[in-house]
Amino acid sequence: MSNTLPATTDVLIVGGGPVGLALAVELGQRGVRAVLVERNMEVGQQPRAKTTNVRTMEHMRRWGIAERVREAAPFGRDYPSNVVFATRLFGHRLALFENVSAGLREENPLFSEPMQWIAQYHIERVLRDEVLRRPSITLVMGCELTGFSQDADGVTADVQSRDGAKSTIRAQYMVGADGGRSFVRKQLGFVMEGRSAFMASIGAVFRAPGLSDAHPQGPANMYWVVNQDAPAMIGPMDHGDLWFTIMGTKPDDTPDAKRVRDLLCQAIGREWDLEILTLDPWSAHSLMANEYQKGRVVLVGDACHLHPPFGGFGMNMGIADAVDVGWKLAGMLEGWGGPGLLESYTPERRPMHHKVIEEAVANTGVLTQHLVRGNLDGDDAESAALRAELGAEILEKKRREFHTLGVVLGICYDNSPIVAEEPGPRPEWHFAEYVPHAKPGALAPHLWLSPGDSLYDHLGRGFTLLVTASGSEADIAALTAAAVTRGIPLKVIAPNDPRLATLYRARLALIRPDQYVAWRGDALGQESGSLLDLVTGRR
Ligand SMILES: Cc1cc2nc3c(=O)[nH]c(=O)nc-3n(C[C@H](O)[C@H](O)[C@H](O)COP(=O)(O)OP(=O)(O)OC[C@H]3O[C@@H](n4cnc5c(N)ncnc54)[C@H](O)[C@@H]3O)c2cc1C
Repeated sequence: MSNTLPATTDVLIVGGGPVGLALAVELGQRGVRAVLVERNMEVGQQPRAKTTNVRTMEHMRRWGIAERVREAAPFGRDYPSNVVFATRLFGHRLALFENVSAGLREENPLFSEPMQWIAQYHIERVLRDEVLRRPSITLVMGCELTGFSQDADGVTADVQSRDGAKSTIRAQYMVGADGGRSFVRKQLGFVMEGRSAFMASIGAVFRAPGLSDAHPQGPANMYWVVNQDAPAMIGPMDHGDLWFTIMGTKPDDTPDAKRVRDLLCQAIGREWDLEILTLDPWSAHSLMANEYQKGRVVLVGDACHLHPPFGGFGMNMGIADAVDVGWKLAGMLEGWGGPGLLESYTPERRPMHHKVIEEAVANTGVLTQHLVRGNLDGDDAESAALRAELGAEILEKKRREFHTLGVVLGICYDNSPIVAEEPGPRPEWHFAEYVPHAKPGALAPHLWLSPGDSLYDHLGRGFTLLVTASGSEADIAALTAAAVTRGIPLKVIAPNDPRLATLYRARLALIRPDQYVAWRGDALGQESGSLLDLVTGRR
């Protein structure tokens, strides 16, 4: 951590939430010089996100910190990734979802890392520690961006430290990772479009000594309790008997700590020695910035998209923004990226945001308060029948929120200006069923080459030419030579595994630094230089 702000840098990152920190790690891995300014003195204050999804964990693996994330998570390796629906924590079971968000630790052929359930503040601390290990990154805490201007060559930013000291930093590019109230977005004159504050909720962290071992529902990440007194979502969060809750509220009636405590006892189903530690009222939005980039300034994360937390997409989508913008900035700064490279950020990410936000909003349609009916708590046959009926309905209606591999891995960059489009439709998309395919614009299909040895571990930091079958030596040589001429980092790998040709349905596949397919084919079929110019935004 540094108290001193350098006078110049290549990239200025504003905001040290999970997205700004992830961008710093991505740039640090690529050796790009960057400064991150965060107005708070500490990172890792909020426990909001808990689902660190499969794709984010794959990035953590690429950055070499997946195991550190797992070690920072409070629950052990075998803790089940389950969601339980019950009338109360000490009440009747309604429904059970197992292996939610693909959290099982066994190797899955579709991806290289399972989801990890972990509070956002732990993720931020792991990322912060990694940022501090990257020599090209300077992290300045207690430092707020207060103004900026840009010209053809760069951005001049004004910042102020906690003691009131003002200074200026000159950067080639600036990235606003400064959250939902983004100062950078407002200064650019961009506006959020969509529906704002359409649902009010309160989050709380509370201490509940002995509760995890005492209740009868078994271990799970979340317990959705459905009853007319206190419908809520609760779950264990951390060591020290820490739990979290989310409860729907009325917009003009935010409960205080005492009322939240009383409601929690009703949700639990008995009086418990609870201590409310933090209250976090929040509103659900469905908003996207009308623009994401102006000249040398780009927005990522909550600064350009805000949506309800159901499905656990917000932080994960922001981290994917950081990865996308990270390799493109590296390309611009290293001189191999053309004018269209950074410009491709908005047309690639915005449609993806739109689709994911639709999922998150749809998930708000069925929450615990919407499921309440009749006497669910009763011990009579009528109540049992009501619970059975409701349980079946929950399994049908909530699957979309808890089994999301299609959303996490299966959304493609359609109509990207830097992807070599292939004619014909993509395989049909499904929110839960991820069907890997290598049509350009899709995530590169994953394969375990041997146990523990992921194909992804062999991809280069820049582009990778994956050779799935021999016989293309002339094309490989031509592409390699064209990459050298242009200074484009390109690694060639030929894993000698016959399954790859079937998976990729081509002898050759060009994979981008973010592990998406840029092009595939049995032969180049076009001039190798023009393909590289396309995928690096040079034409
Ligand atoms: C109840 C709840 C549950 C959620 N659960 C999940 C989940 O399970 N999975 C998931 O993926 N997402 C989840 N989310 C969403 C997730 O919390 C956000 O998407 C995430 O925090 C966004 O990260 P960010 O870095 O873009 O913004 P932020 O986390 O808001 O960070 C922005 C940072 O910028 C700093 N900053 C602001 N202005 C300036 C300035 N002018 N100068 C310097 N610094 C500045 C701020 O201090 C802050 O640290 C949840 C959200 C809520 C409310």
